Amino acid sequence: MPQTARQTRTPDTSPGQGYISALPPEGALPGFPRRLCLLGGTGSIGASALSVVENNPERFVVAALAGARNLALLAEQAARFRPARLGVLTAQGADALAGMLPAGYRPDIVHGPEGYASLAADADSDVVVSAIVGAAGLLPTLAAVQAGKIVALANKESLVLAGNLIRQACRDSGAVILPVDSEHNALFQALGGPGLPELPHVASLVLTASGGPFRDKSAAFLQTVTREQALHHPNWSMGPKISVDSATLMNKGLEVIEACRLFGLPPQRVEVVVHPQSIVHSLARYHDGSLLAHLGPPDMRLAIAYCLGYPGRIPLDLAPVDLVALGSLTFEAPRHDDFPCLSLARHSLTLGAWGPVALNAANEEAVDLFLADRIAFLDIPRLVEFALNAPAGVYADDLDAILEIDRATRHRVRERAGGSAHRG
Ligand code: NDP
Ligand code: MG
Repeated sequence: MPQTARQTRTPDTSPGQGYISALPPEGALPGFPRRLCLLGGTGSIGASALSVVENNPERFVVAALAGARNLALLAEQAARFRPARLGVLTAQGADALAGMLPAGYRPDIVHGPEGYASLAADADSDVVVSAIVGAAGLLPTLAAVQAGKIVALANKESLVLAGNLIRQACRDSGAVILPVDSEHNALFQALGGPGLPELPHVASLVLTASGGPFRDKSAAFLQTVTREQALHHPNWSMGPKISVDSATLMNKGLEVIEACRLFGLPPQRVEVVVHPQSIVHSLARYHDGSLLAHLGPPDMRLAIAYCLGYPGRIPLDLAPVDLVALGSLTFEAPRHDDFPCLSLARHSLTLGAWGPVALNAANEEAVDLFLADRIAFLDIPRLVEFALNAPAGVYADDLDAILEIDRATRHRVRERAGGSAHRG
């Protein structure tokens, strides 16, 4: 396990502080139709969110929609949902997008991190769906939280990077965080949503993991994994980054940190169990031995619709889970030695606040390099371990420090990989 001499002033979790945000009573929440700002609209979560909106036109209006580089898809979505504001990554992209829209439809088009943040904080939306992938989601998520929005949060990386800042901002602004990540959404539901103050009676949270495409593959096989194999998840259809994270089990590691930040529990009270069928989305273990689970089909529309309709439920036309056809639900322990990313994520929490920031940055860079065929699959945990062994040099007390650790770690990992990349 990596060693470090790093000390920290900031605790990385907030044990005993309960759920990250207040959960106001139904009467204090916006009625329907709700006005949505959808960030990461051109991604996998974005497509699922738009599908929920499309099937519930009386409940939801898309007020703002953002993608990054996929302008053709964004133009097509914008033509269908006609949001008043759009966001893209670059100024050139904004110009190009304007030329791709139907005649007579002239939305305001913003670009870059500030543009996304302005959409997130815009008074014209009630609910912000935060579904940008990676650390790029942090600033827009923070902007939404600071503006006091209801935030349907898919971007787990922002909690990994800045859970304490987001918790504090929720306290200051009255923002409400609703977890889209299926395990955390399951826990939110199993714990009773507004009943979350009952958390002291919870012994632990049990996150389920599918185990990814290589759950039953040999250690020798893992040395030969290709990009295509890693992108092929057995149960879920997701974007490339989270698909690779699922294959390495880093996704579950990030989710352990996400659970600590969301529910205010220490990592010792967050368990992980492999459940290959992905039907039990997670469980809460109570002090009396009870386990309350949430079950459902492996389809992200379930969690998204729950957040968008909260605290009510929106009917969905997903194929029901046929328990008899399934026959059995199985559970097994994660293979920590073959999939070290899960242990590395837990280890990062022992390093202080900089640890998860460095873990996330190293992982994002390593996954990019793997997807570009520059490093092997098993180089991903190697590079993350390398990053955690190199003290970051600054404390992660505030946003500037977090961004600096993120930047410095990415640089170090790129340099290291440049020296050791062996694929192409
Ligand atoms: P995708 O890769 O499918 O989509 C990512 C989205 O982010 C796209 O809209 C993309 O735009 C946009 N994007 C990429 N880079 C930037 C950037 N620098 N600035 C702004 N926007 C950017 O990812 P997913 O939908 O799979 O995942 C999104 C988030 O949700 C992740 O944090 C993931 O961990 C989380 N999540 C996803 C789940 C899933 O089932 N997919 C499940 C649980 C959580 P474009 O394509 O136009 O370039
Ligand atoms: Mg998940």
